Amino acid sequence: MGNPEFQIFNTMTKQKEVFKPKIPGKVSMYVCGVTAYDFSHIGHARVYVAFDVLYRYLQHLGYEVNYVRNFTDVDDKIIRRANELGEDPLSLSSRFSKEFLDDMAALQCLPPTHEPRVSDHMTQIKDMIAQIIHNGCAYVIDGDVYFSVDNFPDYGRLSGRKLEDNRAGGRVAVDSRKKNPADFALWKSAKPGEPSWESPWGPGRPGWHIECSAMSTHYLSPAFDIHGGGMDLIFPHHENEIAQSCAACQESNVSYWMHNGFVTENNEKMSKSLGNFFTIREISKLYHPLALRIFLMGTHYRSPVNHSSEMLEIASERVFYIYQTLHDCEVVLSPFREGNLKDRVTPDTQKCINKFRTDFQTSMADDLHTSEVLTSLLEPLKTINTVLNSLKKQKQQLQQQLLIQSLVALEKEVKFILNILGLLASSSYSELLQQLKDKALGRAGLTEDQVLQQIEERTLARNEKDWGKSDQIRKALSLKGIGLMDVPEGTIWRPCLPNQQ
Ligand SMILES: [Zn+2]
Repeated sequence: MGNPEFQIFNTMTKQKEVFKPKIPGKVSMYVCGVTAYDFSHIGHARVYVAFDVLYRYLQHLGYEVNYVRNFTDVDDKIIRRANELGEDPLSLSSRFSKEFLDDMAALQCLPPTHEPRVSDHMTQIKDMIAQIIHNGCAYVIDGDVYFSVDNFPDYGRLSGRKLEDNRAGGRVAVDSRKKNPADFALWKSAKPGEPSWESPWGPGRPGWHIECSAMSTHYLSPAFDIHGGGMDLIFPHHENEIAQSCAACQESNVSYWMHNGFVTENNEKMSKSLGNFFTIREISKLYHPLALRIFLMGTHYRSPVNHSSEMLEIASERVFYIYQTLHDCEVVLSPFREGNLKDRVTPDTQKCINKFRTDFQTSMADDLHTSEVLTSLLEPLKTINTVLNSLKKQKQQLQQQLLIQSLVALEKEVKFILNILGLLASSSYSELLQQLKDKALGRAGLTEDQVLQQIEERTLARNEKDWGKSDQIRKALSLKGIGLMDVPEGTIWRPCLPNQQ
């Protein structure tokens, strides 16, 4: 049996296409990684969460996936930062590569099959440059090697840019030694204070683009299925990759080019110079990483996503609701876990599960519409809460059993889908809820003891029928994102959207 069909948007053809791997049952995928010289920001989180969803979804469809994501550990930015800090460039990038992997683990991104570093692949890079020179598409000047765009007629195919457009753009200082201003470096001759490697053209280091051509070819072969990255990489990075790979090897071919959209900050472009730039680490101090993940998945991967504290509050609320519901379900189900449960469920439950599964398949098969899946997730969660309520009122044993079985089936289905989306918590439900509460306390600037003290004061006020004071306490906490709930056992608290009255 083949793998189920789905469509992805191909930047090369600018349309959605049915995915067909080059080898049935197997997928080869390369995603451009980070230049490791600093902590990764929310834009990085978006790229790697988007492709992690794809990776998990492909595995769910039964594909064996070879997923390669590189580390750029030789680059101008790394060298500059290392010189500022008086640190060895390779040790600096190794340090930030580790930090990146910690961020990825926190965001529940699965480790790719291979995570190659540029500094470990100089042989492959030099071999490819030599091949491009041999094939007449590159030239050497004073120890530098340039790709000659004029000798590659297909240049501009991915981005739709014409060479004339590049000629007009005076963004980069023109190197008069280049045959065409659009020519780009494959090898840069060694400068003082920079790491360098021996090569047939003299000591130096690779240009940025060549590493991805060389490492994708090495780990996946010249022809592979999916190449991904952020939209900002379409030009020049991916355009240059295509030129290099095809100039080196005629068989070079990528079936699908996939690019995710930008992250904006309060609807402005995010950039270091504007100071509206948040690292994953900074955001994770205030919000649970799963909230960040679900926030990113709440928008289709190709659309721009606007980062704001309001959106992260909503995302946190979403995660809390999912896990509070699963936790409530678990509490009720725990005495029955060992029992011999039958598969029979209520007709409403069956209908809900079937619809959820169908909606999931339809949404994901349509270019990974995760935002739709997250919306359709609300229905089974609502059904769990409805069944939990019915169970409280139900006295008849057989009916009770049917409801218990329904809960088991609903919980199983929700967990199954959460797992495919990478949203299934690695800790227990109660641990995760506590983590979310701790983050909410942090944002409110309160300790749990302070909240409990406020609850006590409110209870006293209520006992004295001082409704004004009781209401004031509740509102003041609610403004800070701490919601009070009066239940038969007393008053409890949970995170809420701040300002919610
Ligand atoms: Zn790349």
